Amino acid sequence: MEITEIQVDGYEKVVRCRDQESGLHALIAVHDTTLGPALGGMRMWPYASEDEALFDVLRLSRGMTFKSAVAETGLGGGKSVILGDPKTLKSEALFRAMGKFVDSQGGLYITAEDMNIGIPDLEIVHQETKWVTGLKRSEGSSGNPSPYTADGCLIGLHAVAEELDKNTSLAGKKIVIQGVGAVGGALAILLKGENADVTICDINEDRVKQLQDEYGFDAVADEHHLDVECDIYSPCARGAGINDETIPKLRCRAIAGCANNQMLEAHHAQDVRDRGILYAPDYVINAGGIINVAVELLPGGYDEGVARERISRIYDNLKQVFEISRTDDIATNEAAKRLALKRIEAARVAKS
Ligand code: NAD
Repeated sequence: MEITEIQVDGYEKVVRCRDQESGLHALIAVHDTTLGPALGGMRMWPYASEDEALFDVLRLSRGMTFKSAVAETGLGGGKSVILGDPKTLKSEALFRAMGKFVDSQGGLYITAEDMNIGIPDLEIVHQETKWVTGLKRSEGSSGNPSPYTADGCLIGLHAVAEELDKNTSLAGKKIVIQGVGAVGGALAILLKGENADVTICDINEDRVKQLQDEYGFDAVADEHHLDVECDIYSPCARGAGINDETIPKLRCRAIAGCANNQMLEAHHAQDVRDRGILYAPDYVINAGGIINVAVELLPGGYDEGVARERISRIYDNLKQVFEISRTDDIATNEAAKRLALKRIEAARVAKS
């Protein structure tokens, strides 16, 4: 196994691993550990080149720094990627080698699930390193993050409602959820419990029907979901849904959902602001999962009560983001970044 360092400006450490025996070719990027060790998921993807993988891991690890700083997880930002097709390249040897690679960083980087990596893969990684989070609850870990992401999203929606109407109540608010999978589905049910007027849409028709039968939600076909006039549009399916093509079609007062990277480009957050639409930055409102995972790393180990208390702070974090956006006259995504940088800087000063 050959581990080599790649020098990248603005990143604390970037390392490459090549292991002929298992076929592992992977990168770990540690962006910033001012606030704590770098936590971020492990992704597997058939990248066309190492440059493409490097671009991805750098971008994602930097994003984790900001997400963790705003969420106050006490952690820094990192990420890892395995180059290769998950359909053909996965093997026990590959994940054991990846475990050794993660372990070689001595806890500077802590891994978790991400695209194409599931708990069975991480369990193999875990045989070689203790720096793994998000395993099964039965093994003392924090388990499936989705219900916590949904809880955090609901808490964030209260802050959104307050910003819109000076009242945190979601009762009677018309909310359209795109994507009712693990998080969006749980969110829809939570919102029904708060008497919100929920409309769901998903490309998986069976899932829509199941939720409709059980909970009586209104539903709309995916191609028409932007036509529904609503208070809050909640993207909970995939990224990049807010872009030049969709922005003119928006008929909502706010955008607030769990999907990652909702804006195709950063300037789209300003574009929606110019239309008077409030945007709850995705990585602020969807932080429930990572906050839950981070609790595993506290000295006393995972504690659901601690996790829930910390997730409830998403409300205050969003309120701060909206406040910075107003006073500094900037888009909310920029405001979130300012809040993150302020927290990192304060920790840096306190350390020095
Ligand atoms: P999921 O796969 O369980 O659910 C996604 C749902 O979206 C599925 O039901 C799918 O059919 C539907 N979908 C996909 N494309 C669609 C489209 N074009 N139109 C309508 N529906 C579509 O995923 P999830 O875990 O619920 O995550 C949803 C989003 O939230 C993702 O962007 C994910 O990265 C992000 N996120 C999830 C978590 C978590 O804890 N699971 C945490 C943070 C962010």
